[in-house]
Amino acid sequence: MKRRVILEVSVALACVMVCLAVWLFASMLTAPEPIAERESETEPEPEYTHFVILDPGHGGEYPGCIRGGVEEKALTLEICTRIRDKLRESAVDALMTRETDVTVTLDERCEIANASEAELFVSVHVNSYPEEAIAGLESYFYKGSESGKALSDSVLAHAESAGIRTRYSREGNYQVIRDTKVPAILVETGYMTNPAELELLMSADYQDKLAEAIAGAIVEYLGSAE
Ligand SMILES: [Zn+2]
Repeated sequence: MKRRVILEVSVALACVMVCLAVWLFASMLTAPEPIAERESETEPEPEYTHFVILDPGHGGEYPGCIRGGVEEKALTLEICTRIRDKLRESAVDALMTRETDVTVTLDERCEIANASEAELFVSVHVNSYPEEAIAGLESYFYKGSESGKALSDSVLAHAESAGIRTRYSREGNYQVIRDTKVPAILVETGYMTNPAELELLMSADYQDKLAEAIAGAIVEYLGSAE
């Protein structure tokens, strides 16, 4: 009788041990991952050291210049988006006054810039002229703005060294560079009325080259202004 009790207790203990082992094993399998490992799975928030505004000219009900079915508003948005992406690779964040084909008035563009903490404002357009022969990039700054001139001259220099045809960097009286408080420029990236330049402006390679030159000038300006 006594031996039977010992046997029963032993069997019960063995059962408890097995159950405990199974429970431990199961809990190891379902254990949450260490926090460090989980965090490494998500992309870290990018750290931007500067902030600028990019202003794609026209949009929505204002197409700008139209040549051969191509609208200026589409080209300016394409070029600005490329500038923004390149700036973000250089730790410069950029807000665009429009990211889609919507109407934004000139007043609203200035308000966006003035209400922001941006360090500079770059408006992008594509030019037109009655004479087809006229071609090349132009960059404008508001009169008396030394910082605007420095940035504008730098855009021209970067474009020239990238092999982009240029005309000049000079004073202009456009509302978006006059009524914005931060250093501001307006870049006319080329002439849609020059057939060869229009062809270039429509190509992804050339848009990328323009974006690289303008983004390069912005990064250089921000670096020297620190
Ligand atoms: Zn325009």
